[in-house]
Amino acid sequence: MNLGNNSRVLITGGAGLVGSHLVDACLERGAEVVVIDNFVTGTRTNLADNERLSVLDLDICDGIPSEQPALSEKFDAILHFACPASPVDFATIPLEILRVDSIGTLHALERAKTDRARFLVASTSEVYGDPLIHPQEESYWGNVNPIGVRSCYDEAKRFSEAATVAYARNEGVNAAIVRIFNTYGPRMRPDDGRVVPNFINQALANQPLTVHGDGSQTRSLCYIDDLVRGLMLLLESNEPGPINLGAEYELSVREMAEIIIRLTGSTSSIEFTDRPADDPERRRPDLTRAKELLGYEPHVNYEQGLKATIDYFATS
Ligand code: NAD
Ligand code: UDP
Repeated sequence: MNLGNNSRVLITGGAGLVGSHLVDACLERGAEVVVIDNFVTGTRTNLADNERLSVLDLDICDGIPSEQPALSEKFDAILHFACPASPVDFATIPLEILRVDSIGTLHALERAKTDRARFLVASTSEVYGDPLIHPQEESYWGNVNPIGVRSCYDEAKRFSEAATVAYARNEGVNAAIVRIFNTYGPRMRPDDGRVVPNFINQALANQPLTVHGDGSQTRSLCYIDDLVRGLMLLLESNEPGPINLGAEYELSVREMAEIIIRLTGSTSSIEFTDRPADDPERRRPDLTRAKELLGYEPHVNYEQGLKATIDYFATS
């Protein structure tokens, strides 16, 4: 599909980090955008006023009330991005996470079926769990603890994927699964709990940076603009996925702390704290599929991306 001036796009979770940047990208294409968000982790201030944007305070788990004017007309694309995504949320609101990735996903898929819309579901590198292969390619089935502290998220996303392929196979929905790797950038909540906002806000306050364990565990940090470019390529393709999106450059958590202290000019020290249970040891996407099928290439290096994110937190 190609988004054009008359396209209508529904984005669940549109007030969050990824969703709000997706809203901007769709508006830039000239589309009309409707956001469904219950603001559990997102905020209205992430979204600028625009006459082609409607923002509805709704929980996707309650369904999509088509009697509401903004929801009555057919959508060309439905992007299901609602879901708290910080490991801190896994401990505090596990049931909300399980619901939005099961009941919420089914509601979004059912509407995509009715509207014959292109459907994109935000899955995650977490479906690979604590991976036993490195880097992670889409053919890997993962190493997930089904009853661990992260299982509400990992297993719910795996359900979301299963629901999406069932609607694609059995109901003819033109659906795609994207597995997103650690993405950061402006509009993350300062108290989100994920590593980048935590470290930046600690560094800006000249407080110790809380490195979990010895900080040798790794992640590959993707700047939000790169991710959104990849998501738009996937949306406008007919690829079903699953497809990894992220960045390939791998950093240890300790390196992240040192870089952020340097980039902020902070006097903070590093404090080594307890490592959470089931915290994955290494993570880096194999992007071969994204590059070959979508022509995706991340462009923003971590220094550029972190500087932009530091500026955001320093001024907001
Ligand atoms: P976020 O917390 O910033 O955004 C999530 C949004 O969903 C928020 O606006 C929140 O209020 C909304 N939401 C949550 N439950 C809802 C519900 N029941 N009904 C309506 N709205 C609801 O998180 P994010 O980083 O923008 O993540 C967006 C999506 O991408 C999520 O599905 C997440 O699992 C996925 N993802 C993100 C990353 C990442 O690194 N940022 C990595 C992997 C997957
Ligand atoms: N982390 C950390 N200190 C923090 C927050 C996170 O050391 O204050 C670590 C966390 O244990 C993990 C990595 O940083 O090893 C990335 O964590 P995040 O919550 O951002 O995302 P995850 O990849 O675990 O979902």
